[in-house]
Amino acid sequence: MVPPTGSPSAAASAELHADVAVIGGGVIGHGIAWEARRSGRSVVVIDDAPGSGASWAAAGMLAPVSELHYQEEDLLELMLESSGQWPAFAADLSRDAPADTGYLATPTLAIGADAADRRALMDLRAVQLAHGLEIEPLTVREARSREPLLSPAISCALDIPADHQVDPRKLVACLRRALASHGEDPRSAVTGALDGFAVADRASSLVWEDGRVTGARLAGGGLVTAGETVVANGLQAASLGGLPAGLRLPLRPVHGDILRLRVPEHLRPLVTATVRGLVRGVPVYIVPRRDGTVVIGATQREDALAASGPEGGGGAAGVSAGGVYQLLRDAQVLVPAVAELELLESTARARPATPDNAPLLGRVDFPESRGHVPGLIMATGFFRHGVLLTPAAATICRDLMDGRTDPRWLPFSPARFSGQRPSTVQPTKEHA
Ligand SMILES: Cc1cc2nc3c(=O)[nH]c(=O)nc-3n(C[C@H](O)[C@H](O)[C@H](O)COP(=O)(O)OP(=O)(O)OC[C@H]3O[C@@H](n4cnc5c(N)ncnc54)[C@H](O)[C@@H]3O)c2cc1C
Repeated sequence: MVPPTGSPSAAASAELHADVAVIGGGVIGHGIAWEARRSGRSVVVIDDAPGSGASWAAAGMLAPVSELHYQEEDLLELMLESSGQWPAFAADLSRDAPADTGYLATPTLAIGADAADRRALMDLRAVQLAHGLEIEPLTVREARSREPLLSPAISCALDIPADHQVDPRKLVACLRRALASHGEDPRSAVTGALDGFAVADRASSLVWEDGRVTGARLAGGGLVTAGETVVANGLQAASLGGLPAGLRLPLRPVHGDILRLRVPEHLRPLVTATVRGLVRGVPVYIVPRRDGTVVIGATQREDALAASGPEGGGGAAGVSAGGVYQLLRDAQVLVPAVAELELLESTARARPATPDNAPLLGRVDFPESRGHVPGLIMATGFFRHGVLLTPAAATICRDLMDGRTDPRWLPFSPARFSGQRPSTVQPTKEHA
């Protein structure tokens, strides 16, 4: 499978208008666009390579419990909110598309390889329990009766019933189908846009009029005007022209290698649950898909080279041989039969990370200003959790469009790294 690229824009130099313009067509942009459409708004998604960013690589674990990190309580609340929305989100989407979203409510097992890994997982369990999360120890015998191909040499196993999965590639395809179908109301289709909602181009800058954002200018010369513009182009958000003056978006690429493998018939199912292991302190996971493949991931690489080039490219953007070796080696410690699988694909992409690992999500509201930038919503910086957080990001953005702000999500303010600023809100000078 190769990542999708858009066909030439129907609107290369034209002007389109929609209620909502979404810049960036990953899981986040599409999720927001579909939610906006469901709320009765017309929508345009601007992207010349939809679904080809971090969303193309993601394993799709919906894992608020196993993704808990120390001192990330606000993020945990958002992850739990989104995880709670997933079953209805997936059911509604497969009805609208209609197609398989790849959502599976399969549980997760956390596995420790050696004694130190066991101690680390048990320490984390204490924190998980303190937050009211469900995570129960199993004996190795119990774990192996559920998953017979687990190694007998593992040191511990914990059952996490609430951590599920979705296939992000199927998810993006479904969201695009749902957006193209226009539901009950064909009037929501945008004339001139591909399939009534898509523009195969890149946004070069935001457009402003009388102190509000009124759409996006396209690299190919076109213009999309909209009542609300959502910036959802992942790592590239910070380089968009016309961002509000003083807004600092400290996004950085955290690269990850991930593998897709086919399980031979005689070994199926390799595992039925998602297996998340700690092997000599290094995390590795095996996510089983319904089609007899598994996803094994993922490394995390950050270095100076990674910061240059498109999508945070540079030397670290390609698949790392060492990363592939590490993933296969550690996965085999947990499930030795991994050695017998057919390697189908190795992929690397950059996660859009922020200094506090939480997204930049909401209206641009500087501490010193009265009110926010009208017509603009930011939705980026989803780091390791963008797939999990898609439903919550979508409903939060829809609420903002409806004029509602939930105080629980104010800690994710996109301006939280921007410090103080003037009390009037303006675009950067060259786009004023
Ligand atoms: C190896 C790996 C494994 C992961 N596993 C998981 C997981 O198990 N669970 C989970 O929840 N998350 C996971 N993630 C994280 C997840 O992939 C991201 O958080 C998520 O994909 C971010 O989605 P996005 O839509 O914000 O960004 P992206 O998917 O990167 O999409 C951004 C889009 O914007 C477009 N774009 C860029 N610039 C412009 C422009 N100027 N104009 C128009 N379009 C533009 C790009 O073409 C791209 O399509 C993983 C990530 C990686 C790398």
